[in-house]
Amino acid sequence: MISQLYMGNEKQVLLEQIAADILNDNICPDLAREATNLVMGCGNVDAEIVFIGEAPGKNEDLSGLPFVGAAGKFLTEMLAEINMKRDDVYITNIVKYRPPNNRDPSISEKEAFWPFLARQLMVIQPKIVVTLGRHSMECFLSDCKISDIHGRPHRIKFGKVSLTIVPLYHPAAALYNGGLRTTLIEDFKKLPKLVNYINLEEKEKYGSEETGKNSG
Ligand code: URA
Repeated sequence: MISQLYMGNEKQVLLEQIAADILNDNICPDLAREATNLVMGCGNVDAEIVFIGEAPGKNEDLSGLPFVGAAGKFLTEMLAEINMKRDDVYITNIVKYRPPNNRDPSISEKEAFWPFLARQLMVIQPKIVVTLGRHSMECFLSDCKISDIHGRPHRIKFGKVSLTIVPLYHPAAALYNGGLRTTLIEDFKKLPKLVNYINLEEKEKYGSEETGKNSG
C-alpha cells in the first residue's frame, strides 16, 4: 500500500506512539475527562483488512477494546462467516473516546481524531479499509449515501498511495433490522474475493505479493 515498509514489532511501537500522542496533545479533553479508557484498536497489525467504526460505546470504554458489545459480537459472527477471526483483521474507530450517552461523534471530534486514524492506516498498510456506518464512510468518501454505495469498493488517493474503501452498514444498525442484516452479511461475503483480486492485481503489477503489498 505504501512505499515505507514496517515490520511487526516496529508497527506496534509506532501504534503505541500514536496513542501517546493523543494523550500528550490532549485531544478532545471533554471526552477524555469522562472516558475510562482510550480505545485505540485491536487485532493484527499486519492485517489486510482494517475495519473502522464510529466511536467506543459503554462496553468498549470499560474494556479499552473496540467492538466488544452486541454490535461487536455480530461483527465477530460475520467474520466467522468468511472464515476469519478478529485476530486476522484490525478493528478501530474514528473517535477513540466514548461520546457521553452514546451520542454520535461530532464533526469537530471526528476532525480531531482524523490525523491519528490516518497514521494508524499508514502504519498498518491494509489492502482494504472497511468503513462501518455513515460516519466512518464520510471520512473517506464525501457526498455519498451509504444506501447507494454499500458493499461497493472505491479506490481513493490516500496520501501518495491508493487505498480501497468498502463502505458497509454499521452492525449496530443491522442488529434489529432484518433487511439491513441480510444486506450487511451479503456485503461482508464479498470481502475475501476482493482481497484476492487486489493481491492478484498487485502481483501482476509488481511481480510478487510481498513487493506489491507495500508499494504505492
Ligand atoms: N460501535 C462502534 O462504532 N464502535 C465500537 O467500538 C462499538 C460500537
